[in-house]
Amino acid sequence: MDLTDATAASDAQASDAASDLPGAPDGFGRLWTPHRMVYIQGEGKPADSTSGSCPFCLAPGRSDEDGLIVARGESAFVVMNLFPYNGGHLLVCPYRHVSDYTELDDAETAEVTALTKRAMTVLREASGAQGFNLGMNQGEVAGAGIAAHLHQHVVPRWSGDMNFLPVVGRTKALPELLADTRARLAAQWVREAD
Ligand SMILES: [Zn+2]
Repeated sequence: MDLTDATAASDAQASDAASDLPGAPDGFGRLWTPHRMVYIQGEGKPADSTSGSCPFCLAPGRSDEDGLIVARGESAFVVMNLFPYNGGHLLVCPYRHVSDYTELDDAETAEVTALTKRAMTVLREASGAQGFNLGMNQGEVAGAGIAAHLHQHVVPRWSGDMNFLPVVGRTKALPELLADTRARLAAQWVREAD
């Protein structure tokens, strides 16, 4: 992603954020508003719900850099959210194209949990995260942007990180480009293993 793309993405995010601020918005509402759930590796929804058009199925076939992948496990992986709610917003996904948490087998369940915990540790070490929003939206009715492929959000939080958003929603600053954040988190991920 070059600077132009990043700027365009940032602009798209900013205008989106500005256009869907109803009434007296608050930052937390913006974080979990269903239609704000966004997609990695694409401008919008996949063409259909098959794995062939699924960004979470396509990402692992790319290099870590091109797929924005932070870490790869045996049955699940960790990827940057292309349009993060906060710097370092990660998604933990099984490789398998399954939609519902009950469809995960025991190994996938354990690894999604382990990767989520590791992601929190990495984000604390690399970014000084003070808190997190963790969660999965199950089904489109619950706000899943890509309902066909389960993904767990790991959103790092800092004191005051959202307070200014309702006031200056168009100028939300994500201080690092996604590629740089990915590289930093991937490096920290390896260090955590030592
Ligand atoms: Zn998929």
